[in-house]
Amino acid sequence: MSSESDGTPISGPSGLPTEPTAGLVAGGMALALELARDAASHDEVPVGAVIFGPSGERLASARNEILGRSDPTAHAERLALTAACARVGAPRLPAGSLLVSTLEPCAMCAGAIVLARVDFLVFGASDPKTGACGSLRDIVRDPRLNHRVRLLPSREGDACGELLSAFFRARRG
Ligand code: ZN
Repeated sequence: MSSESDGTPISGPSGLPTEPTAGLVAGGMALALELARDAASHDEVPVGAVIFGPSGERLASARNEILGRSDPTAHAERLALTAACARVGAPRLPAGSLLVSTLEPCAMCAGAIVLARVDFLVFGASDPKTGACGSLRDIVRDPRLNHRVRLLPSREGDACGELLSAFFRARRG
């Protein structure tokens, strides 16, 4: 599992893989937003997530399916992690994997992100009510855990947040 790359090495702790390109992040967010819109069209809270391997290959994508599966854990990020791990045939993702989500992951998903050893995380909208990647708590960067995730900035926070706001506005009628 080489982390060799001709990209710019990140300045974090040594041994960490190379940061994903801005193009990969932007493409991932565009797809995640598409999935989130699809979730809304199925009356699910609009959240989408995409996972890429270290070479930029797409490992999995998912949207919220809480109603569809009658499963409170069927969050986009959790479903994408399960599918990505099944795809690589291991309970941990390869070093350098990236998860892109339209919404700040909750405690459950943040825990799963750490368990799967995701190295890079990008989320669109912050979630002050349940976000566990810096808002309510910060599971992915908790120094007490044996794996920490690098958060990368997103330019799509407003679009992701507006999708959620519109969904809840419509729901309230
Ligand atoms: Zn979640």
